[in-house]
Amino acid sequence: MKLEQAIAAQKPLVQKLLDGVAAIGADPPGITRDAYGRGENEAHDLIRKAGEALGMRASIDASANLSLCLAAENPEAPPIVIGSHLDSIVQGGNFDGAAGVIAGIAAVAALRAAGITPRRDVEVLALRCEEAVWFGLGLIGSRCMLARLPQGALELRHARTGKTLAESIALAGGDPEQLQQGKPLRDPAGIGAYLEIHIEQAPQLIEAGMPVAICLANPGNLRHPFIRITGEDAHTGLPHRFRRDAALAGADFSLCLEKLWLEEEAAGRPMAVTIGRFHTPAERHSLTAVSGEFELSLDLRAYDAAHLVALEAKLQAIVSEVAARRRVTITLGERSSAAPGLMNPPLMAGFAEAATAGGIPVARLHSAGTHDANNFAAAGVKTGMLLVRNQNGSHNPYEAMETDDLMASIAVLTGWLMTVIA
Ligand SMILES: [Zn+2]
Repeated sequence: MKLEQAIAAQKPLVQKLLDGVAAIGADPPGITRDAYGRGENEAHDLIRKAGEALGMRASIDASANLSLCLAAENPEAPPIVIGSHLDSIVQGGNFDGAAGVIAGIAAVAALRAAGITPRRDVEVLALRCEEAVWFGLGLIGSRCMLARLPQGALELRHARTGKTLAESIALAGGDPEQLQQGKPLRDPAGIGAYLEIHIEQAPQLIEAGMPVAICLANPGNLRHPFIRITGEDAHTGLPHRFRRDAALAGADFSLCLEKLWLEEEAAGRPMAVTIGRFHTPAERHSLTAVSGEFELSLDLRAYDAAHLVALEAKLQAIVSEVAARRRVTITLGERSSAAPGLMNPPLMAGFAEAATAGGIPVARLHSAGTHDANNFAAAGVKTGMLLVRNQNGSHNPYEAMETDDLMASIAVLTGWLMTVIA
């Protein structure tokens, strides 16, 4: 069979697997596949069986990540790894994560149907617990694999079962003691490339009317979860010139950040600002008091490490400016950061060529979300991502990806694979 036909012929398999993981996670109106729990475990079983049916060799690592390997007889180069995750948030959608794993299986099925004998291993990975809701920490499978698990993470507790991450991993067949040693479960230098297909979490492809995008980068972030603004409590009648109103300072601070965001974007430097928590202290606030205290959180993301450094300096300037203008103290408090995931330029060029050859229009976009791909990129693995058009965003029950759009991304992926494995 010609490759093009072999790819198109995988649509029933793709649909069957998408429907299969939907049935496993069914939690109307949404989908819940709990990490290291029944939902994720059953989805792993379904995908393992689909891979084994294609002659792939199944194994799990110490964090219970599932690997399915289409082995070359005499591998001439390190494996090409295609990965994503099968867990979801509580009341999420069906496609965030699962679409990427299923795309990997479909690509291998297409290679087999076309009678291709690969010159190097092609591996599909179902990475564990990508979603941060389960342990308050995301990307756990890829962190474990590449020794990027923060100190103490194995003691974090599962939001539903209350079991520690170490206990949860052991129950899924992993080996927390091996993880305790903090060594990579596999050598990043032994991975030829890491590829991930993921639904787009913003509506840019819907807006552009295109099925697939080559991802340019995943965002890195700077986070301050507990920002505190202190002014002075006062009576509602106090004239403006006497006030040290912490609530208005919080609003001023947030609007300054939004202004910065729009300026940066207008200058061609994409980023995002999210104030997820924004409130006066609930135990004291009232209709008739000027609040002297205000709390908020800040997630600031950008796609370039130097840009993040520059933004942090601008954040400090905004803090000083608002504090002076409003006569308040702004304490940013606890800080965490993550590096952006930069995609490999030759890989992006290869995807573009494969898309052109297949007659598939592709956009070039920054990803809204952080993915397991960030960990592979940070570990020095050549990393590439394709984003698939998807209505209604993600992390909600109304994710809506068309199977045909996923098929288009599988065609680009498989077309590129042919250039490196056939
Ligand atoms: Zn995801």
